[in-house]
Amino acid sequence: GGSGSASTIKQVKLERESELRIEVGNDAPLRLRLLNGTAEIFGTELPPEIWLNFPPRLKFAVFTWYGATIEMDGATETDYTADETPMVSYVNVHAVLDGRRSRAKASSPDDSVSSQGPRVIVVGPTDSGKSTLSRMLLSWAAKQGWKPTFVDLDIGQGSITIPGCIAATPIEMPIDPVEGIPLEMPLVYFYGHATPSNNVELYKVLVKELAGMIERQFTGNAESRASGMVINTMGWIEGVGYDLLLHAIRTFKANVVLVLGQEKLCSMLKDVLKSEPKVDVVKLQRSGGVVSRNAKVRQKARSYRIREYFYGLSNDLSPHSNIANFSDLFVYRVGGGPQAPRSALPIGAEPAADPTRVVPVNINRDLLHLVLAVSFAKEPDEIISSNVAGFIYVTDIDIQRKKITYLAPSAGELPSKYLIMGSLTWLET
Ligand code: ATP
Repeated sequence: GGSGSASTIKQVKLERESELRIEVGNDAPLRLRLLNGTAEIFGTELPPEIWLNFPPRLKFAVFTWYGATIEMDGATETDYTADETPMVSYVNVHAVLDGRRSRAKASSPDDSVSSQGPRVIVVGPTDSGKSTLSRMLLSWAAKQGWKPTFVDLDIGQGSITIPGCIAATPIEMPIDPVEGIPLEMPLVYFYGHATPSNNVELYKVLVKELAGMIERQFTGNAESRASGMVINTMGWIEGVGYDLLLHAIRTFKANVVLVLGQEKLCSMLKDVLKSEPKVDVVKLQRSGGVVSRNAKVRQKARSYRIREYFYGLSNDLSPHSNIANFSDLFVYRVGGGPQAPRSALPIGAEPAADPTRVVPVNINRDLLHLVLAVSFAKEPDEIISSNVAGFIYVTDIDIQRKKITYLAPSAGELPSKYLIMGSLTWLET
């Protein structure tokens, strides 16, 4: 193991309750298969003997409960075996959640409290393994036939859609270790920035919209309701970040708070939530396998996510370049608009930019290289309360001819003429 540069086939024998931690090399993919025994990647079982292809830079672990032999083909950045993992404590949490789901399912659907399955929220500092734990809990639940809803509130490194969004999607099958979260019908709200500090108020409003929408879906769907949800959050846990965590816990009515690797955060949450008696706050150990990522790596990861949206994980999608007239599209941004002049306000009033005001934007070269969301809104004043259909990427603005060129996942007309801009840019490389 170690800083291996193995470029030929190698076999690794894993003892029970141990894992093989792998960082795929930067330039070439890695092939891997399960030769014998049983093993899983973040909660999803590996099929026996079938070669799986892992793209460059992917970081993951192959864990075995009872022992396994793994075969690898290709260069890795690192690969090593670890026999100390928090997996037993994670699967114990799963068992408790599973019991609660069964009890919810057995209750009368008319009893909205007892028919509600667990609403789990995973919190902790950056690089504590929140996304990974969320994924395991979802895959283990799906394996048992539940359809839990995955909610991702992480606008920086979310795993449902592009950065700058909060989103939710039902998980009906264990999550594919390569493809990730299935993208069939995600419910997506566009915030437009990679950090909540750009517009904290807007972030809260969108979290509320998303929670309200899921609440309505649960009302009509006893199976989803009993399966409950797993909510992934941002790694920002200080100051405003902490307030936003509390806001999310309360808005989604979370009843299980899993705190990864931070004693202080755990005791603070226990303290404030003790007056809300039906909330369990549980501290869990961070896995030693979680890979830390600095600001530059995170920025790169955001860029890859946007690329993946348009081109697919392995260049398997072909986006279309489209041209529209300025007059065909209506671009809006939310908040931060020009403040009302002091002279227009009553005496003594301070001018304040309404953080949730929807402001029309003139199409000009400032839009170049921006990623815009296509809103489902039918009227501009519905933009904040509407989810989005998808995204476009502005590749050219021709001021003279008043034409805008953009990349979209497919050809043809956009589902709506209302577009939302934020500060999300992308440089296609
Ligand atoms: P963020 O700060 O972005 O919210 P996070 O707390 O959600 O991060 P993860 O995304 O779960 O952290 O993990 C960070 C990286 O470490 C991911 O690339 C993940 O695949 C990898 N990772 C997590 N657990 C392991 C493990 N046991 N072995 C190898 N890699 C792992």
